[in-house]
Amino acid sequence: MTELQGHSTKCLLFATNNLHKIQEVQHILIGRLQVLSLLDMGIQTDIPETGLTLHENAIQKATFIHANYGLDCFAEDTGLEVPFLDGAPGVYTARYAGVDANANENMTKLLKELGQTTMREAQFRTIIALWLNGKLNTFEGIVSGRIAYKQEGNGGFGYDPVFIPIGYDHSFAQLPEQVKHNISHRARAVSKLVEFLTASG
Ligand code: IMP
Repeated sequence: MTELQGHSTKCLLFATNNLHKIQEVQHILIGRLQVLSLLDMGIQTDIPETGLTLHENAIQKATFIHANYGLDCFAEDTGLEVPFLDGAPGVYTARYAGVDANANENMTKLLKELGQTTMREAQFRTIIALWLNGKLNTFEGIVSGRIAYKQEGNGGFGYDPVFIPIGYDHSFAQLPEQVKHNISHRARAVSKLVEFLTASG
């Protein structure tokens, strides 16, 4: 973690090419930690993601940037886990409907697999891996909820139109973005990351 020249706010590199994730994490951390993107660092590269678990993928992504560019950074991997589908799509969440599937195709497959079942419980799980001062740490964040019967709303990204967080009647894509920034899987993992950074000085 470094201090930006002329700024007292600490900054940390987020090893991802996903602009949605960068924007979300920047919003969550506004005023507390400045999150730099790979683009900000002039790094243009595809980051491998071949692990069999979210943990493996998060560590693989952070380690790729740490090893190749010698930078402290964090990376994250997120999965949607549905007990009715034996935990699927899980680590294959991004590729559920095929290697190049888009969010709409992935959600369509998910809704088809669930059909009209009422067993629609689900959770998003995020693992963050952090390389800091030569040490690796991981942090987990989970939000429970259920899968809607159809896509609802235009906000957020990925599976947000079909995920209704517990305690709400609307999907993440319908709720004000501040709600997602307060309670999401990613917000909860980020909050553990911040606690750790604060304790590390
Ligand atoms: P990955 O972590 O980049 O591998 O993303 C896994 C999959 O989960 C992708 O299809 C993302 O679009 C989706 N995803 C990740 N985070 C979220 C989220 O906060 N809401 C909805 N979908 C998400």
